[in-house]
Amino acid sequence: MQLNNNTGRILVVDDLQANVQLLTTYLKAVGYQVVPARDGEEALLKVNETKPDLILLDIMMPKMNGLEVCSRIKADDMTKYIPVILVTALNEIEDKIKGQEAGADDFISKPFNKLELLTRVKSLLRIKSLHDQLNEKIAELEIAKERLRQLAITDGLTGLSNHRNFKEFLMRELDRAKRHQLHISVVMIDIDYFKHYNDTHGHQAGDVLLKKASALFAENIRKNDLAARYGGEEFALVLIETGKKAATLVAEKIKDLVEEYPFANEHTQPNGRTTVSMGVATYPTDATEFDDLIRCADLRLYKAKEMGRNRVISFDS
Ligand code: GH3
Ligand code: MG
Ligand code: MG
Repeated sequence: MQLNNNTGRILVVDDLQANVQLLTTYLKAVGYQVVPARDGEEALLKVNETKPDLILLDIMMPKMNGLEVCSRIKADDMTKYIPVILVTALNEIEDKIKGQEAGADDFISKPFNKLELLTRVKSLLRIKSLHDQLNEKIAELEIAKERLRQLAITDGLTGLSNHRNFKEFLMRELDRAKRHQLHISVVMIDIDYFKHYNDTHGHQAGDVLLKKASALFAENIRKNDLAARYGGEEFALVLIETGKKAATLVAEKIKDLVEEYPFANEHTQPNGRTTVSMGVATYPTDATEFDDLIRCADLRLYKAKEMGRNRVISFDS
């Protein structure tokens, strides 16, 4: 068995300095890092401070004994995976039973047999290392899962919510509005003469415009509202807990911001700039069901186009 060139930080807890020294000598000789502690309180402090890979813990100590220390380490989610070897007097069966109950992983008897000690330390450290690797993988997996979840609800070009997430969000929020008697508004937005912009400056320039317009939409709604790419050059806002009047103000403001924003080469557009048209529909004022609400906002958007674009329509005249 290879006992040299070991790595790992071991907390050695014993109220007898001579025991700490002996164990430290054995462990350091084969490469381990040793952190000493003289009593239970110091041990608990150092567990949190130094995050050891293993703990050699004397049972018989004044104030807080080793069993109590072990129970506390094993009760804490942050430290429960650190293996604990309890140091017992020879053949103390009762200590071993209590140690088991306190969550100890192994036992070693005094006087120490060096080879036995090192063998047990090594095997528990191997398990700890596998455990750490597993935990790292789990953490990586969680991050990947979250990234995937974000990807699944995001539009690739604009970074806004995609159509599917828009639908889910509006359905959920509409339900909530019904339950709590709240208002909720939907704003449908379409970029004016966008085909002309694409045809004149190319699809890529069109994409840049879509991205910038999207940023303006997202930046000018509240944190809990939603801005989505409904499809192509059409967008939708969901403004929660917002009645028609407030929703119209938000829509007008965004319409103005788009009109004012200096998009590249917009002077070539039929109306000399980049503008948007919008239709606003509010629950429960205009409709009470999902489809009707969307249809209402869509019809008003269509009306805004008909009336000359660059405007917000919130009512049926
Ligand atoms: P209107 O003022 O009536 O809305 O006219 P419009 O030209 O904006 O509307 P139309 O529906 O005729 O054209 C929309 C154009 O949007 C056509 C399509 O090629 C373009 N488009 C859709 N998705 C994208 C995209 O992801 N990137 C770019 N660059 N263009 C897109
Ligand atoms: Mg003791
Ligand atoms: Mg358009």
